[in-house]
Amino acid sequence: MALSDATPLRILFATPEIAPWVKTGGLGDVSAALPAALAEAGLEVRVLVPAYPALLAAFPQRSLVARLDQPGGQLLPAAISHVELRPRLGLLLLECPACYERHGGPYQDRTGLDWADNAMRFGLLSKAAALLASRETPLDWRPDVLHCNDWQTALAPAYLRYRHAPGAATVTTIHNLAFQGLFPAASREALDLPPAAMALDGVEFYGRISFLKAGLQHSDRLTTVSPTYAREICEPEHGFGLDGLLSYRRDRRGGDLVGILNGIDTAEWSPATDRSIAAPYSARSLALKQLSRAALGERLGLDLDADAPVLGIISRITLQKGVDLLIEAAPTLVARGARLAVLGSGDAGMEAAWRDLAAAHRGRIAVRIGFDESLAHLIEAGADMFLMPSRFEPCGLNQMYSLAYGTPPVVRATGGLADTVVDCTPATLANGTANGFSFVPATTHALLATVERAIEAWRAPEAWRSLQRNGMARDWGWDAPARQYADLYRSCLPAAR
Ligand code: ADP
Repeated sequence: MALSDATPLRILFATPEIAPWVKTGGLGDVSAALPAALAEAGLEVRVLVPAYPALLAAFPQRSLVARLDQPGGQLLPAAISHVELRPRLGLLLLECPACYERHGGPYQDRTGLDWADNAMRFGLLSKAAALLASRETPLDWRPDVLHCNDWQTALAPAYLRYRHAPGAATVTTIHNLAFQGLFPAASREALDLPPAAMALDGVEFYGRISFLKAGLQHSDRLTTVSPTYAREICEPEHGFGLDGLLSYRRDRRGGDLVGILNGIDTAEWSPATDRSIAAPYSARSLALKQLSRAALGERLGLDLDADAPVLGIISRITLQKGVDLLIEAAPTLVARGARLAVLGSGDAGMEAAWRDLAAAHRGRIAVRIGFDESLAHLIEAGADMFLMPSRFEPCGLNQMYSLAYGTPPVVRATGGLADTVVDCTPATLANGTANGFSFVPATTHALLATVERAIEAWRAPEAWRSLQRNGMARDWGWDAPARQYADLYRSCLPAAR
């Protein structure tokens, strides 16, 4: 869908992570795939991201394009370098060795503790985004829209409001409302925020500074990553104290808050071209999926049996993902003949519980603690079904990978899971929409009952094939979401308002 406009819309996409170089979850995937899809659609996109070691190593040929000698407050001086990735798509690396050149994760050190100076590290990222989107930009490239992502960049709209002459319209996307970037009010001056910002309609949140609230308050438009999550975060149960502000924004001017379902990167996640699986397959050659099942069993040391369904789990190990429910259900699932292939990392107590389960059920429960991209692909292809009982799920990517791989997901009907998985019933099977299984109560009982329903369906190969094919038939890629974002960007330009 090439746009015919002579001057393409220019988007500055600010993000704290970008796959494959720096990724802790779905945001890293989105930050790689959405800008690429937008560029493909004819928009001009530059992705602003901190110059972490992995990015510096990947792009030694980058060229310095600007210096931010005095970003304000106690924010450290930084430089910006540019790398052209492909036509209309570039990276802007925010170079500040003291902030970003560290061993550890983007947000935490190797022991899992948040970096003590995260306010300043992501204050700087937000400040750089604001400067590049302002009329004072040091670049000869000025965006029409600044697109901020999550709390790490969400202070930018506040800087544009309080400190710099705004040049671009602003959009902030919530990838997960649970992470808000809360810091002591005493950081205000160091962050170069004026006293007036510490107000109810500013960045203040129960006596602290909330980066995310700043974005929710001051962006022209807000999005989140699925229509159902957009509704859920306007309610107290999922609103993390921000539901009042969010429902106000949702209802203003006919809707400042919209949900746009993420896509998946089909270049990376397609069973027809995936190099990490045993053999490529498609909806027409589903028998070949068995080869990946066998390879998965071998790689993880699972005792495979044609009669024993393999249940895949790839997840951050957190309560959000309902991993506690999975741990509690695991012995019963194994007793019913299932095999479990588990990949993830996170909460130390639950990691230990998984290790204990694997030791107690050798050959039946296989657990890999850590981050392993190629194993993630093999699980998606080799498992018979995929489990994702999240308590809340802004969008979720793994269930979409599962659908694309003919591995029907069993999910809790929340957020993006509710928007992508159609529960298998006689009616949905008959009308060709069924593609998985879902349940509502966040209980082990409901999870077990639904997995049992799924296992029963798995034992009826013909109906199971329709379920697999229904999931594989839909285009889960980024073309449609990119079109929705392009429309949204256009709608928030001054002329459109
Ligand atoms: P979230 O962003 O909340 O963690 P998503 O389902 O949206 O969850 O995205 C998770 C992404 O991270 C997917 O690309 C998934 O495959 C990947 N992932 C999560 N944990 C692991 C792991 N341990 N190893 C490999 N990939 C993982």
